[in-house]
Amino acid sequence: MTPLLLAISFLRVDITTGTVTGRQWPDEIIADAGSLWKPFIALAYAQRHEFRYPQVTCRRCWLPRGHGRIEIEAAISNSCNTYFDELRRHLQSGDLDDTLRRFGVPGASTATPEQLLRAFVELAKRRQEPGVLPLLEGMRLSAQSGTAKELKGHALAKTGTAACTHLPKAPGDGFVVVLTPDLQPRTALLLRLHGRPGSLAAKEAARLLK
Ligand SMILES: [Zn+2]
Repeated sequence: MTPLLLAISFLRVDITTGTVTGRQWPDEIIADAGSLWKPFIALAYAQRHEFRYPQVTCRRCWLPRGHGRIEIEAAISNSCNTYFDELRRHLQSGDLDDTLRRFGVPGASTATPEQLLRAFVELAKRRQEPGVLPLLEGMRLSAQSGTAKELKGHALAKTGTAACTHLPKAPGDGFVVVLTPDLQPRTALLLRLHGRPGSLAAKEAARLLK
């Protein structure tokens, strides 16, 4: 096994049958999934705000010049921190966990890889529910031109970068969730890339899905 492969953890699920078709994940819990939870933060916000998402002006972000005036779809696609900080400011404690529980996740810092991935599968299945479609559109854009653009489209994706919580310790780990194809996803993949940002996790996911 090459060192690069060792740096990758992944879980793949066949959405049609619900079975796990690939798993290489050494630790049980993902204590920090970083920006992966952003669509669920948005949904928790939407539930308190008549399922309407705001426009936010981002002047400074992980992108130094900021994302400018941004709406929910672009905020998900570009994983804008300013946008989701603003949504989070309007949440009450417990809101996010309440939302996550509706998707089978016990809590934001206590999810197993399976629970995390299945929450996204469930999100895609509930596209008719209020507030969900803009989130899926943001994930579609992410795979096309956003932080997961290495996937080169035809997928729904969300990247994240989080503090590394396993050994050997790195400054941060990149995550990506991919549901493909975009219209009626059949395959779900969660991938973590040790010591690299989420955008590169998307690149490894593209390789794995080939
Ligand atoms: Zn931003």
